[in-house]
Amino acid sequence: MPPSSDANSLNTAADTLTARLEIQSPSPLQLFQPDWPGASELQIWVKRDDLLHPIISGNKWRKLKYALAQLQVENIDKVISFGGGFSNHLHALGYCCQRLGIALEARIRGDYSKHPSPMIDDLIRWGTTIKYLNKRSYKEQTELAAANALTTDETHTRVIPEGGSQQQALPGVAEILSELPRDFDHILLPVGSGGTLAGLVSASPGAKLHGIAVLKGQDYLEQLVKNLLDGANQNHWQILHDYHGGGYGKADKNLQAFCHEVEENSAIPLEPVYSGKLFCAARQLMEKGYFNAGSKILLLHTGGLQGARASG
Ligand SMILES: *Cc1c(COP(=O)(O)O)cnc(C)c1O
Repeated sequence: MPPSSDANSLNTAADTLTARLEIQSPSPLQLFQPDWPGASELQIWVKRDDLLHPIISGNKWRKLKYALAQLQVENIDKVISFGGGFSNHLHALGYCCQRLGIALEARIRGDYSKHPSPMIDDLIRWGTTIKYLNKRSYKEQTELAAANALTTDETHTRVIPEGGSQQQALPGVAEILSELPRDFDHILLPVGSGGTLAGLVSASPGAKLHGIAVLKGQDYLEQLVKNLLDGANQNHWQILHDYHGGGYGKADKNLQAFCHEVEENSAIPLEPVYSGKLFCAARQLMEKGYFNAGSKILLLHTGGLQGARASG
């Protein structure tokens, strides 16, 4: 544990950042009453982290909050991080770095130099240095970064691993739970690199946590979460692997139509990579009678709407 004066300066820096970036926290909690089979016997709420900020995607803010505050405290002025061509993490980090005057080097999986995605166009506009890596180097470097072992020759440079999922991400994510005004029996959320699930588990909520895998990653995803938790709090969570729809970013017509339908009926915008798969899984679980009648259920809307923009 850091001495409390350090903890105080970190908290002060985090509060300052929250105000400077105009983060709208706490995010709203919204009652959700879909006409899905089995849903009328349940009490369903949505935590709208997609509304935390128009550009900084919901759970990426939660994960970056204390990491960015730490950079401010230590006067770090350069960051290296990783992601795919549509990464919500790089997008959120790129925007924050531009606003805070921190240099960002984004190492991107694959070569998009001829056809940059809208995400990469935004990064370039925000002054990010872009480096494209082939699959092998990307894998090597991200594994080192996740193990906190990627070295840089520059001083005052910090590496943030892929997805922003690192131990420093956990306390920011845990704040989602302290914002809730009531108890829930079940909390459902999408899982990509495991940081958000680990953050919720680390706060030991009374609710049972169900991560919905958005990619094919049985055992692998569980291991990522366990690594972040470092042996603590291993109970009351699981990852469901039947709802990834064929893999990361895979979205068939049914899923697309489902996202539109929810958006039309309840005015909650969904994208097919994360929140669409979460809501679709919730619908199927409710239909199967997975939850006891009367259960209080929270769906965590993690944001991610920028990633849904078509490649241009
Ligand atoms: C990155 C992301 C996730 C995945 O979160 P992890 O902490 O990586 O598991 C979920 N939803 C959205 C919208 C995201 O951008």
